[in-house]
Amino acid sequence: MTALEAIAGKRDREEVPPERLRALVLAYARGEVPDYQMAAFLMAGYLNGFTRAEARALTEAMVASGEVLDLSSLAGPTVDKHSTGGVADGTTLVVAPLAAALGMQVVKLSGRGLGHTGGTLDKLESIPGLRVELTTGELLAQVERTGLAVAAQTDRLVPADRALYALRDVTATVASPALIASSVMSKKLAGGASVILLDVKAGPGAFMPDAAAARDLAGLCVAIGADAGRTTAALVTDMSQPLGDLVGNAVEVREAVEVLRGERAGHRLTELCLELAGALAALAGVAGDPAAGRALAERALGRGEGLERLRLLVAAQGGDARVVDDPGLLPAAPVAQEVTADRDGWLAAVDAQAVGRIAAALGAGRRRKEDRVDHAVAVELPVKLGDRVGRGALLGRVRARDPAAARAAATRLREALDLADRPTQPPPLVYHRISP
Ligand code: URA
Repeated sequence: MTALEAIAGKRDREEVPPERLRALVLAYARGEVPDYQMAAFLMAGYLNGFTRAEARALTEAMVASGEVLDLSSLAGPTVDKHSTGGVADGTTLVVAPLAAALGMQVVKLSGRGLGHTGGTLDKLESIPGLRVELTTGELLAQVERTGLAVAAQTDRLVPADRALYALRDVTATVASPALIASSVMSKKLAGGASVILLDVKAGPGAFMPDAAAARDLAGLCVAIGADAGRTTAALVTDMSQPLGDLVGNAVEVREAVEVLRGERAGHRLTELCLELAGALAALAGVAGDPAAGRALAERALGRGEGLERLRLLVAAQGGDARVVDDPGLLPAAPVAQEVTADRDGWLAAVDAQAVGRIAAALGAGRRRKEDRVDHAVAVELPVKLGDRVGRGALLGRVRARDPAAARAAATRLREALDLADRPTQPPPLVYHRISP
């Protein structure tokens, strides 16, 4: 009866009571509610919306469907940061080491690539030997010893989200603010950290196409975190173009190493990582405010302390830590093909989703869940929105396994870029900041 009542309630735009939502989600996770009923409920909610109380109840039910990490053995402050997903978004590989260098304990459970967006676990696994499947005991011991761990979420954490996400993916119900917020926040709450920072992406390369919708989503996530007693904040950041210059797996590790070595000062990826690390420091009480936190993060980066933490992370998880000194040890695909400008102009638009899909089609992402990713292929896009380019200048480069794949990807890459005759404004990096 519960499923039918909840479906009818959502269809009729009523607020479904928390206990009914909880019963529905837990029954679905146990396999007692069929997909067709859950799909009807999701679509009714997608079309008619959910209240904040419903979003909170969905989140709590998803957390209750599995285990919750107990971080009480760590002295803290325990912190977690989460991006809603983008292209060339290697922020975790920089922010986690910087936060650890500032004395925070970073417990980061990450995901794999999804659609056109990359996943931190796939990127990390391009480091020879590195393991992301850690037991809870290994995870806690590593954080105690090194200040950070980046690991795969186990099957026992929020099983309801895994089942619901797969159903949403095939019923066109992903892009609902309450469903995204409950999906993201259930994983963050089950991850156990007391401080949560969300990086909600806005733009054509993200799940939320515009900054206003992303701000509403961020506000909902922050409210759910606060209701659960966690210190939660969010930045709404730009995803109208790839964040970094390199899209793929090994290349994104390389770019993160270069950021931590101070070789990419002023780049958008570096700037956002400093903003995120500064915001985390303020939330965790390590700095008085985000600006002071950013100054601490800049100092840690300048002294190479972030790089040292990345080295500790790689070594602790069984990886070849020499990549930190020599990123040339990372796999690189053999065939490179350049894309050059066919005329003078200014970069006016980048189809960020297309760039992500080109990288995925080269092998950097998966078509099916069981596919293996190719760590060595890449798309390089060193030009950014607003940049002036002369005829014949390098716009980008693809790295592929064979010449045919390289040619096809290079053609698609050129089609994803739009040159204008007049100067164009680069988009802001951070649109909104939502405080606890
Ligand atoms: N990321 C998630 O974890 N869940 C969503 O629903 C969307 C993005």
